[in-house]
Amino acid sequence: MLVHLLASPAQQAQTDPIAATLRRLQGAFSLVLLFPDRIEAARDPWGWRPLVLGKIEEDGKTYYVVASETVALHVVGATFLREVEPGEIITINSKGMSSRRFTDRSSQPAHCAFEHVYFASPASQIFGQNVQRVRELLGEALSREAPVDADFVMPMPDSGRSAANGYARASGLPYREGIVPNRYVGRTFIKPTQEARRAAVRLKLNVVEEIVRGQRVVVVDDSVVRGTTTREKMIQIREAGAKEIHLRISCPPIRHPCHFGVDFATRDQLIAAERSVEDIREFLGVDSLHYLSLEGMLGCMQHKSEHYCSACWTGEYRLDPDKPETGPISEAGQLKIFVEK
Ligand code: SF4
Repeated sequence: MLVHLLASPAQQAQTDPIAATLRRLQGAFSLVLLFPDRIEAARDPWGWRPLVLGKIEEDGKTYYVVASETVALHVVGATFLREVEPGEIITINSKGMSSRRFTDRSSQPAHCAFEHVYFASPASQIFGQNVQRVRELLGEALSREAPVDADFVMPMPDSGRSAANGYARASGLPYREGIVPNRYVGRTFIKPTQEARRAAVRLKLNVVEEIVRGQRVVVVDDSVVRGTTTREKMIQIREAGAKEIHLRISCPPIRHPCHFGVDFATRDQLIAAERSVEDIREFLGVDSLHYLSLEGMLGCMQHKSEHYCSACWTGEYRLDPDKPETGPISEAGQLKIFVEK
């Protein structure tokens, strides 16, 4: 879509075709465009997704690197310089690096809070904070919000590991790995039947019976989307002989789809869309269930709460997905919030 727009005669007639093209886009984008003589990197004015700039010093020369996360910089031996700013275009060519803005619109940032909860690599620095550290803080906040008398804390691998560590540390309960990924199976593809999908979950994650049998366990996971996989895991833990299962989730219930780059299910496939927490607890078959509150989650992040997108939890979208042409900024310059019905 972008290339098509950029190639159009109307955009090519502009003094800066890339800037003119990007001004017409609404929503989340972090782009790297390769040209024969240069690289252009750009980030949307809301800073929804991360985009970072690094450099490599070699033989007296400086080379610049752009990546979606800082973890990728380390892989190629680059050091982190800074984030590409929201609304900024970076040009890298044989003369070095230069920067310009494609909009002077000062949008309020809408950093995706789900990057910290689940999406980004724990080794990355996202929106000014280390992801692993934020996930540990989420676990600590969860422990303060929903303490429970139990024998130990265990993570749902791998996504719940950092938060489970934080929960264990803050609660003083031991941390144990009662469920382990099966590293001998590869990717499980979407299976045609419910039964085959259940078998795939059992194959991928193995419960360590000797650890969970007769125990009261706190299971920490980062999120529940459809709920079917989580339910299957809870059944396995129960079948392995756990006496009590207390499930703790390090973000609020996901009730709305994402229109900004994360492939969530449609609303009717989200387990929390229409169900209460008690209904979900019953469906998952656990003794207690607690989701971290929105305030608790955003309180672990360093910027002001209104600088993060949290639409999949609240339904308050910065852009109306059905009317993108209306734009995010009202005539008075105030941010408009669209609430999903
Ligand atoms: S709706 Fe959720 S997943 Fe999508 S950008 Fe916002 S916070 Fe991130």
